[in-house]
Amino acid sequence: MARRKLAAGNWKMNGLSASIAELDALIENASGAAAEVLICPPATLIAAFAARAKDGGVVIGGQDCHAAVSGAHTGDLSAEMLADAGAAYVIVGHSERRADHGEMNAQVHAKAEAAWRAGLTAIVCVGETEAERNAGKAEEVVGNQLAYSCPDGATGSNMVVAYEPVWAIGTGRTPSNEDIAQMHGFMRAQLVFRYGNGGNEMRLLYGGSVKPANAAEIFALSDVDGGLVGGASLKATDFSAIVAAASG
Ligand code: PEP
Repeated sequence: MARRKLAAGNWKMNGLSASIAELDALIENASGAAAEVLICPPATLIAAFAARAKDGGVVIGGQDCHAAVSGAHTGDLSAEMLADAGAAYVIVGHSERRADHGEMNAQVHAKAEAAWRAGLTAIVCVGETEAERNAGKAEEVVGNQLAYSCPDGATGSNMVVAYEPVWAIGTGRTPSNEDIAQMHGFMRAQLVFRYGNGGNEMRLLYGGSVKPANAAEIFALSDVDGGLVGGASLKATDFSAIVAAASG
């Protein structure tokens, strides 16, 4: 199965109802794109965005979910709620969740299983800190995150992995192309070892300061199947250029 490239936008805690104009522009610009296009807006906008994107070429996702179906978890959202609002994907284990909310691999693992229970595709995020990279431990850290965050039963259609070095997120800095290709090759080998051919079918995204100027060269690297994009996904003009790079 050929891996279709994925351009995924993570809006984080940005966007109000008026932001639907950016979605409209993206739907127009991305129409007919070869790459799959995903926007993960704040949860308050998922239902409206999903309704608007329904017949366009853009799919909508959540940024996080709770592992339980329902219950006494004030402020949390279940994967079922995201699916009910129209989401098709959910990001789990983003480094901002790991850092700001103390999420560990076991929770990320449970959230990925919750995503599948609700029929969503899980985008599992992994990535080393700068100190870990400087200590020569990047592969060890990412290997452990993959091993303990990704559940058994992952396939090319229910799981996407996003490699996001923590030090590259929102900083304007990126690893060298060689370092990105090296890490993606390492992750591919780990996933094939564990999941067999399913590991070949999973899309591996690079995330961390992707922008129109660097997207094409990063997406052309071996085992890079698209990007998870924060800041540059907020403006339709920038993100459309990234979608074009993923489609090229
Ligand atoms: C992210 O948070 O997933 C991300 C990649 O952010 P940015 O593109 O802004 O570095």
